[in-house]
Amino acid sequence: MRDETHDPARASWVEGAAGHPDFALQNLPYGVFSAGDAPRVGVAIGDHIADLATLEAAGLVRPDPDRTVFDAAALNPFMALGPPAWLATRRALSRLLGGEDGRLKDDPALAARALVPAARARLHMPFAVAEYTDFYASREHATNVGTMFRGADHALPANWLHIPIGYNGRASTVVVSGTDIVRPMGQLKGARDRAPRFAPCERLDFELEVGAVVGVPSAMGTRLTTAEADAAIFGYVLLNDWSARDIQVWEYVPLGPFQAKAFATSISPWVVTAAALEPFRVAPPERAVPLLGYLVEETPNNLDLSLTVDLAPAGGAARTVSRTNARGLYFSAAQQLAHHSACGCAMRVGDLLGSGTVSGPEAGSWGSLLELGWNGTTPVPLADGTTRAFLEDGDTLTLRGWCEREGAVRIGFGAVGGTVLPARP
Ligand code: MN
Repeated sequence: MRDETHDPARASWVEGAAGHPDFALQNLPYGVFSAGDAPRVGVAIGDHIADLATLEAAGLVRPDPDRTVFDAAALNPFMALGPPAWLATRRALSRLLGGEDGRLKDDPALAARALVPAARARLHMPFAVAEYTDFYASREHATNVGTMFRGADHALPANWLHIPIGYNGRASTVVVSGTDIVRPMGQLKGARDRAPRFAPCERLDFELEVGAVVGVPSAMGTRLTTAEADAAIFGYVLLNDWSARDIQVWEYVPLGPFQAKAFATSISPWVVTAAALEPFRVAPPERAVPLLGYLVEETPNNLDLSLTVDLAPAGGAARTVSRTNARGLYFSAAQQLAHHSACGCAMRVGDLLGSGTVSGPEAGSWGSLLELGWNGTTPVPLADGTTRAFLEDGDTLTLRGWCEREGAVRIGFGAVGGTVLPARP
């Protein structure tokens, strides 16, 4: 539902916030930060972070009348209060930072304490990841990978148009942007090798994804409708699902990815709320086959979210190697969550659902090196004249995302970055 918090005519009085490409008043993404002191919850506003623990202690926001939720190193206590508290807090913050509620704007001493320059802050993991599930929702990505490994005639598995395919990943190795990624060790076996060997991954890759953050739990045995699932999503992050292609190709039969995906998943530090993204909802692609009833959506649940991938070699300049958009994903996060709960699987506050690699229809819009370099056959040129079939030590990957539309203020996700470090044999 759109409301006054989306009104493009409103702007924040906080210096530098009006017209900020990522964090204008209409966004208000949540994160966890510290500035030489204890981590606590804040919202990004322009080049500042509004310290919600300070605003809560001053009584300017109070999502839970019985206890504080923002003097915490994770968003989980706030998310656990549920959608009415999320909406009331968004409206209260919008009025405080928009100036209609003058209690912050007109109190320079409080404003000086509560507005922390982002340049002085360190950003932490925004929420405690309860569990992590990764999906495979881009038809273009699934078709590319299927074409490479099974041929164009059998590119999409028989189940793909019916089921939001996924696997249960690891929450323990989901890390925040800026965390270095050590090249994993694993079992490698080439098609012509007689036996596997234990060695550093030779086909290290990224996956450009969008992560949905679940804020409403569901009990074991409860099936969520797509509408209930949509309402249970607190917000979204950018997600890099680092992947070891050579480990995966040997290990995945018959139970799917395991070590190839378990070593690291990076997320952006700001959780952009589903509420902020209301103006950017779009309908999914046309269905190739009718969906089963429990997956049918009553609202447009896809997001018009532009995405880029920059790749920089050690000490070198970055080059944008992919530009795409999440709007074309075949299954929305709401459909994935409804499917996840369809067997009676319980969901928790802080569950993270990866969209699957976001690839568009054109060659420059693919969300992995596996596709951009077509399984190593057409290496990708970088700014320094070298090429990449797969990632090398010292490479830095940076994913960015933003929503932009006529009649709405641009909403940015910021970035998620990570640098590859050598393996530890
Ligand atoms: Mn993935």
